[in-house]
Amino acid sequence: MNSSTHFQVAYVVSQDLIKYSSRLPSNPGRSILVHSLANAFGLLSHEHFSLRRLQVIKPKPATINDLGAYHAQNYLDALLRTPDGTDSEDSSDFGLEDNCPRFPGLSEYICLVAGATITAANALRSGYADIAINWDGGRHHAQKSRASGFCYVADCVLAILLLKRTQPAPALSLSSDTTLANVTPSHRKPRVMYLDLDVHFSDGVSQAFYSAARSSSRQVLTVSIHHAAPGFFPSSPLGQLPFDPSTSFDPFTLSLPLLAGASNSTFAAIWPLIERIKDIFKPDYVVVQCGVDGLAGDPKCKVFNWSLDVAAEGSLGWCVSRIVDDWKGIRKLFLGGGGYHAPNAARAWAYLTSIILGNPLDVSISIPDDPSHSAFPLYAPSFTLDVPAGNMLDMNSTEYLAEARKRFERASEMLQEILQAQQSQA
Ligand SMILES: [Zn+2]
Repeated sequence: MNSSTHFQVAYVVSQDLIKYSSRLPSNPGRSILVHSLANAFGLLSHEHFSLRRLQVIKPKPATINDLGAYHAQNYLDALLRTPDGTDSEDSSDFGLEDNCPRFPGLSEYICLVAGATITAANALRSGYADIAINWDGGRHHAQKSRASGFCYVADCVLAILLLKRTQPAPALSLSSDTTLANVTPSHRKPRVMYLDLDVHFSDGVSQAFYSAARSSSRQVLTVSIHHAAPGFFPSSPLGQLPFDPSTSFDPFTLSLPLLAGASNSTFAAIWPLIERIKDIFKPDYVVVQCGVDGLAGDPKCKVFNWSLDVAAEGSLGWCVSRIVDDWKGIRKLFLGGGGYHAPNAARAWAYLTSIILGNPLDVSISIPDDPSHSAFPLYAPSFTLDVPAGNMLDMNSTEYLAEARKRFERASEMLQEILQAQQSQA
């Protein structure tokens, strides 16, 4: 990577990353659809006209040392020592069964997916890019010593650990975003905010950074907006509503459980709560897990009724555009996640790429039907880019959202107190 060249958006992908990500048992063939649709729209080309410049960069596969920054050695031994994907006795000890089976190429997959997210994080740390994307990452259920919920490697956690490391100020002279010149005042360590938009609670990431200690110096804040209901994976003990002000909670590990049918209007109503937390915490980096299993029509989840179009307030596209356009002076890492309607996941991530580049495609645009885009038939019956909302009822009442607001207001107060105390100690 030549640090004298500055690109605003680093898009991490390689043929190997696509090959092995496409073997993920929960999302077979999804990765290739995602990147070929982005390519078919010309988004990855230097000739693509957009506000921000995109550079495709290849992931550097993660080493055992890179993975060991979070994962336990015995888990890594179990994951990586059977490259042929054969079963071994300790599989169940490490969660390598049921929805996380071993598969051919598992060790290559682990190293490439984690490596892609680490490569993206390093592009931000070095000042090579202001925004970095790894749509094959975002494996937010993986634990230190255990695979869980289709996730084998905790790439989000590894990226956060890297971003929070104190470092010499990166070269910013070529950055077009002059507000970035103020990143990380010299008197404090970098702060990282993790925002998870997947329909499932980010248990793996939240647990990694959860702390019962209120007053210690904290560099990482996690927020998960997700569905919660009895029996819905995973359980989220950190965020039950209605809000009980007498229970203690960690304001650096926030959780916003939503009820079935969450639609654009619900996301529009809660968005100011997220903005407020961001304004108080003042992160230097934000890691956004953009799981798309909350979009309407997801065949596995079927719980939210969220849509894509940036023009609709509260939609996924709208939330991402708020982050890209309004969260100034913050370097951004966008990751993928869940999404079990593969063509819709491809629609969503190709579209979000266009939003990140500053020139959103029109959602009514036709899916390209040219010889280089052989996946075209999979986009039936609409053959357009949009993922529209369905007719599901949004159960998140005004009263329910008021409870969420109370919880976030209390969290905001607590955060302010802790950060002020931290500042006065510095
Ligand atoms: Zn999910």
